[in-house]
Amino acid sequence: MTRAISIFGATGSIGQNTIDLIARDPDAYRVVALSGARNVSQLAFDARRLGAEVAVTADEAQLPALRDALAGSGVQAAAGRAALLEAADRPADWVMSCIVGAAGLEPGLRALRQGAALALANKESMVCAGRLMLETAKAHGATILPVDSEHSAVFQALIGEDIATVERIVITASGGAFRDWPLEALANATPEEAATHPNWDMGQRITIDSASMFNKALELIETREFFGVDPSQIEAVVHPESLIHALVGFRDGALMAHVGPPDMRHAIGFALHYPERRDLPVARLDLAALGSLTFRKACEVRWPALRLAREVMQAGGLAGAVFNAAKEEALDGFIARRIGFTRMAGVVEDVLSGLSAQSGLIDAAITLDNVHHADHLARQTAREIIAGGA
Ligand code: NAD
Ligand code: MG
Repeated sequence: MTRAISIFGATGSIGQNTIDLIARDPDAYRVVALSGARNVSQLAFDARRLGAEVAVTADEAQLPALRDALAGSGVQAAAGRAALLEAADRPADWVMSCIVGAAGLEPGLRALRQGAALALANKESMVCAGRLMLETAKAHGATILPVDSEHSAVFQALIGEDIATVERIVITASGGAFRDWPLEALANATPEEAATHPNWDMGQRITIDSASMFNKALELIETREFFGVDPSQIEAVVHPESLIHALVGFRDGALMAHVGPPDMRHAIGFALHYPERRDLPVARLDLAALGSLTFRKACEVRWPALRLAREVMQAGGLAGAVFNAAKEEALDGFIARRIGFTRMAGVVEDVLSGLSAQSGLIDAAITLDNVHHADHLARQTAREIIAGGA
C-alpha cells in the first residue's frame, strides 16, 4: 500500500535523513508536501525526484527561484506561512515535523487535525504546547511518534509496559562542544566553536543548544509533556559516547536502556514503520570493540539551562512557550555576536522571571492564540534585554 507523506523542514538535517529513508523505497510512498526555507535548490531537487504534489518555501522572497527550479516538473511551487499551513492541511498518512523552532508548532497541529501519524522531531511543539498537541491528537484520532532520539528510546522502552510502574526516566546528554572546557573559558566561546558537535551531525541551532544544554533542557520538558511523569522522575546524565539514548527505570529496580549508534535514521525509521520494525541502514554496534561506556553528573553550574528547565516544569502552563521563545532569541543574539555564550541563560532567566510576574500570562489556557501571545511577549522582552546590554 502506498502511503501519503509530507515532510515539513525537508531541507534540514532531520528532513534530509528522512528523505534518505524514503528514497530507498520510492514505490512505497506518495509525497504530498515538502517544505523548506532558503535552500530552494535542495527543496526543488528533492520535490522533483520524489514527485511531490507541492513544494513550499517559508521565505516568500524565494518563490521566483523555486518556480524556476521546478519548471516543467509538475510540482506546484508555493511560498509563505499561509502556503505552508495550507500544505499541512492536505491529507497525508504520515507527516514528519522537523522545522526548527516554534515555527514548527502550527504545521504539526494542522497535520494532527487531519488525523495523520505525526513523527515529531520538532521538540519545541511539546515544550510550547504539549497539552494542546496531545489533546488535538486525541480529538482527531491522530498519533504522535517522538523522533527526538531520547524520546524515541523512552517510547520504545515503554512498549508493553504500564507507565504507572515507571519510577524514573533518564535521558542522556553528550555534553556538547564544551563539556571539557574550563568553566572560565565559556564566556568567550564563539558561535563557530559552539556549532561543532562531538557525536551528532545536526542543524546549527540544535548543535549550539547542545553546547549550552538548552537542547537537553527542552528535552527534559518534552519528556514531562510527552510521557506525563512527574518532573521529579526525570533526570539528565552526561554520557560522552552518545550510545545510550535514554533509560527507563521501573518500580522493581529494572533499568531498560536503549543503545545504538548516533544516527537519527534509527528514530526516524522507527517512527516511519511503527508499529512494525523493519530493516534500517544504521550501523550495528560492536560492544567488545567499544570496551566501555562512561557517565558523569550533568552539572547545573556549567549548564544553568538544566536548572531553568526544572523551574519551567514546576511552573507548567505557558512557561515552556516563554522559555523556548526567550531561548530562541538568546540563541539569535549569540549567533549574531550581540551576547556571549554564558549570557544566553541569563537572558532566558530574566525573561522567565519578568513574565512570570505578569498575572494571568503563564496560567492562561494552552490555546494556540495564548501560546503565540506568550511567545511574542517573551521574544520582545528578550530583545529588549539583549539590546539594553543588561
Ligand atoms: P535544520 O536547521 O537542519 O533544519 C531546519 C528546517 O526547518 C529546514 O528545512 C529549514 O528550511 C526549516 N525552517 C527554518 N526556519 C523555518 C521557519 N521559520 N519556517 C519554516 N521552516 C523553517 O534543523 P534540524 O537539525 O533538522 O532540526 C529540526 C528539528 O528537529 C528541531 O526542532 C530540532 O530540535 C529537532 N531535532 C533534530 C535532531 C538532529 O539530529 N538534527 C535531533 C533531534 C531533534
Ligand atoms: Mg535529542
